[in-house]
Amino acid sequence: MKLQKKCMILALIIAYKHVESYPTDDFLAKQSSFEIEPNNFAGRILTKWSETDHFGNPEEQGPYFEGDIIVSNERTFFTRQAKKWKHGIIPYKISGSFTEDQTTMIKTAIEEIESKTCIKLVPHSSEKDFIIFNNDVSGCWSKVGRGGGSQTINLQSQCFKTIGTIIHEILHAVGLFHEQNRSDRDDFIEIVTENIRKKSLVNFQKFIPNIYDAEESLYDYESILHYSPYAFSINGKQTIKTKGSQEIIKLMGQRKGLSEGDILKINMMYKCLQ
Ligand SMILES: [Zn+2]
Repeated sequence: MKLQKKCMILALIIAYKHVESYPTDDFLAKQSSFEIEPNNFAGRILTKWSETDHFGNPEEQGPYFEGDIIVSNERTFFTRQAKKWKHGIIPYKISGSFTEDQTTMIKTAIEEIESKTCIKLVPHSSEKDFIIFNNDVSGCWSKVGRGGGSQTINLQSQCFKTIGTIIHEILHAVGLFHEQNRSDRDDFIEIVTENIRKKSLVNFQKFIPNIYDAEESLYDYESILHYSPYAFSINGKQTIKTKGSQEIIKLMGQRKGLSEGDILKINMMYKCLQ
């Protein structure tokens, strides 16, 4: 009987790990409601976007996976280990025709990350894997984690509204998904599906395993990787409500800087604290 019980618990753990894993590219390929390739149509839509007319952040306006994530076409498993950058060092170069102010903002965003975590962004020389900052008219977007070879963080001019959007996209490349993807998020927020555009429902899945989200890292409403309360709204009403204090709504979707939770999570992921 005891052995039976142990087997059941083991099966439950395996099932849990299976369900609560990163989405595979196979899974993502079946989702037809987001675009895989960057495109200028998405960029042109963003040029018409303004915060006063529409709620949310510029990276939440994209048609890509979760708004701003470019998914690899390769049919390989997402694994957190494979997607990390060796020793937390990310080589980068700036290729787009950015203005001086925009270049300064990218460098300030890098400084914010470097000053609070052990991630280092270094000018690219001959490294195989590296990031290119570009500014095609295709929106604000990034891959999640180290993709292999060169990979783009795209920041068209509307992505410079706040420094937070730049930090947000760099954190995707570091290896982090959106905070509200956490498997335990329903304890903290309510997703109001009737207010979400049908095509965008796929953006509100839960899939992050709890390895970095355990007690050390409580649900972080203030994360720079959290959607704003009106993300992907079809009717101007809230798509995310808090189960906590209503004051928290003011923090949700902030794009000012890293939260304490963001810092802790990156430092755990890259073992900066050891
Ligand atoms: Zn994002």
